[in-house]
Amino acid sequence: MDISFFKRGVKLSGRVPVFDITDVKAPDRAVLVMSQEAGIECKPAVKVGQTVERGAVVGEDPDGESFVHTPIGGRVAEVGAKVISPQGIETRTVVVERGDEKLQAWAPAWKDEQGDLLERLRVSGVITSCTQPLSLYRTLKDVARPRSVIAATSRELRRGIDHIAVRLTEFDPHLSALDAQSAQVDLQQFSDGIDELVKLTGARQIWLVEDKNIAKKHYEALEKTADDRNWEIVAFDSRRYPAFADALIGKRIIGREPPVALQNIHDSGVLVVDLSTVLDVRTALVENRPITKKTITVTGPRGTNVVRATIGTPYADILAAVGESGDYGKIILGGPMRGRAHHSLDYPLTRDVEAITLVAQGDVVLHENRMCISCGLCTMACPMRLSPGLLSRYCEFGQWEEADNTHLFNCIECGVCAYVCPAGRSMVQLMVLGKTEVSSRRNA
Ligand code: SF4
Ligand code: SF4
Repeated sequence: MDISFFKRGVKLSGRVPVFDITDVKAPDRAVLVMSQEAGIECKPAVKVGQTVERGAVVGEDPDGESFVHTPIGGRVAEVGAKVISPQGIETRTVVVERGDEKLQAWAPAWKDEQGDLLERLRVSGVITSCTQPLSLYRTLKDVARPRSVIAATSRELRRGIDHIAVRLTEFDPHLSALDAQSAQVDLQQFSDGIDELVKLTGARQIWLVEDKNIAKKHYEALEKTADDRNWEIVAFDSRRYPAFADALIGKRIIGREPPVALQNIHDSGVLVVDLSTVLDVRTALVENRPITKKTITVTGPRGTNVVRATIGTPYADILAAVGESGDYGKIILGGPMRGRAHHSLDYPLTRDVEAITLVAQGDVVLHENRMCISCGLCTMACPMRLSPGLLSRYCEFGQWEEADNTHLFNCIECGVCAYVCPAGRSMVQLMVLGKTEVSSRRNA
């Protein structure tokens, strides 16, 4: 086995090129999954037979911090049918069938346009793109408060957010959706999105984070805007995976890491978002519209495509739009390094998915989850300085408290430990299992 790794990561060969974006037609029947953020389940907020306008809320979580909106206007055809999410959790769906033209006009997601920005963000459906996709509102609700309030409630959070880093490329170099978006971004819209984020957080410095392996020309227009607006530019090597992990970007640009005891990586004072989140913030706060589309990378036996599709569109329809079809040996929601195997192409697009990767029947490599041989390779390579071997054993044998005490939630699910493990252990799956168990015990 030839493994090339360095302190805090592995070297990956090559990266996919930049593609054009293909638009996929919105479905006439949108299947809206009630769990579209890590560990958050919304309750259906509509009844069968109800008429809904495009953009209306059809699901809301009990804390009022996460919402699901319908991307088409029409009639609610089904409520409550259960599906298994990529996280292995049973969740409900709401199905909306397209109705007449006047229901297709955008309905405001909130009535009070004078409400403060954070309140408007709350109902918008904007999520962050970090390891655990969470609503941006959940990420910002504490750190965006006035600093005097933060100082009074938590010593660790007293810093607030003073830097915003915008990732212009993918965490996983095998994906390309963000590169496609950064190639054709509307600079005014991007600037407007940054301005809204600055209003929300009070940040003083903006950083654009580029990939060194993409031609300079690709970033020319964004760099010119950065120059005009006094933003900083920094470039990392995407082949030194995971150079673009949110938790590491703050450390690399200003030497700050989040406090180990805290699980919100933005508590380092650096808010890391990607370019698509910036555009979503603008859609939500400038256009007053909820987020109902997603741009993802689709990789299959016929090649790679970048598509912009409507949330609620079945994956089978998205694949048909780019000419992919066949009997796949493995369906992975996400990229090769961090994706999760899934059972069906009937499952619809959700906002927490960044890619779909399909493996042909004959190309599937099955690993046996063998015993850990304590070689220590995973500990040497883990970018978060964890002990993945130990953590995976805790999760494998149900030692949930020990896993929690060994900083299980600091795992960013990058897959580096699985990549280097000579025993072929299912490391990320074990970490995800552990997080799901610990979270459900905390909430019980
Ligand atoms: S333990 Fe988590 S953070 Fe560390 S290498 Fe494994 S997946 Fe990445
Ligand atoms: S790399 Fe695999 S076998 Fe080696 S210590 Fe880590 S989990 Fe165990």
